[in-house]
Amino acid sequence: MHRTSATLTDGRRIHYYDEHPGRVRESAPHALTQVPAAAASLRRDPTTQEWILMAPHRRARPASGRHCPLCTDSPREVAEIPVGAYDVAVFDNRFPALAGRPGTTGQADGSSLLTSAPAPGHCEVISYSNDHGTTMVRLSRSRVRTIVDAWADRTQELNRLDGVEQVVCFENRGAEVGASLEHPHGQIYAYPWIPDRFQRMQETALQEHLRGEDCVFCRVLDAEERAGSRVVVQSAHWTAFVPFAARWPFEVHIYARRHVPDLAALQEEERDDLASLYRSVLQRFETVADRPLP
Ligand SMILES: [Zn+2]
Repeated sequence: MHRTSATLTDGRRIHYYDEHPGRVRESAPHALTQVPAAAASLRRDPTTQEWILMAPHRRARPASGRHCPLCTDSPREVAEIPVGAYDVAVFDNRFPALAGRPGTTGQADGSSLLTSAPAPGHCEVISYSNDHGTTMVRLSRSRVRTIVDAWADRTQELNRLDGVEQVVCFENRGAEVGASLEHPHGQIYAYPWIPDRFQRMQETALQEHLRGEDCVFCRVLDAEERAGSRVVVQSAHWTAFVPFAARWPFEVHIYARRHVPDLAALQEEERDDLASLYRSVLQRFETVADRPLP
């Protein structure tokens, strides 16, 4: 994987991940208007104490129209990625849900119940291919591997930023879950806090450890492999299974066999293996219904 990075004229960063070296890119003028970062904020739900992201400016984000913002042959005033062909590209989201600097909390409408705060952090978009009409499943195994490398690279780099607590790479696909673009792409969020679900998982793991139990994730993996009925696909380094207490009609968890702190810590073989297995899991999602599932 060969990475080149550049700064767009509005100050946003872009990183190209190519499978072969030597792609020459001259920086091109790029005049898309950046949306003010201050538009993002957090509000606390007084009944659950959860922080909720407020990003009303995201309503103005590009939707699928005549020209796609992720295709490099779109007109200048629409294209988010300014130059030439690429394999995988990652760039700062122009409509970030998390952005700016940390700050203090404030009260709204004169009520001590209604608390808001700035939403610092970092949001990036990852385009999986220059080909508008493809999907992750139809990409070559080596391209999916390049995507895994890009996830790992961004995870490592964003984790180094001040105030970042957790980096999450994800894809919301389909209009049903709010994806506004058809072009195959995903998102990378660097959160200034640990999202609730991960926080709870960490607390559970710690409690079990303090009680003298073995690692909860290793025990789940062992239980699922023994039961077998929910295992979807296995490989040398990974197991994909439907969790016993699934919360969605279609839900698969992918566990590494080895203890790894994050994607950046995966070794070459584990990355290769993840690329194959991940694509295989998505393939099954494509065939389980008679249309691509969101
Ligand atoms: Zn496109």
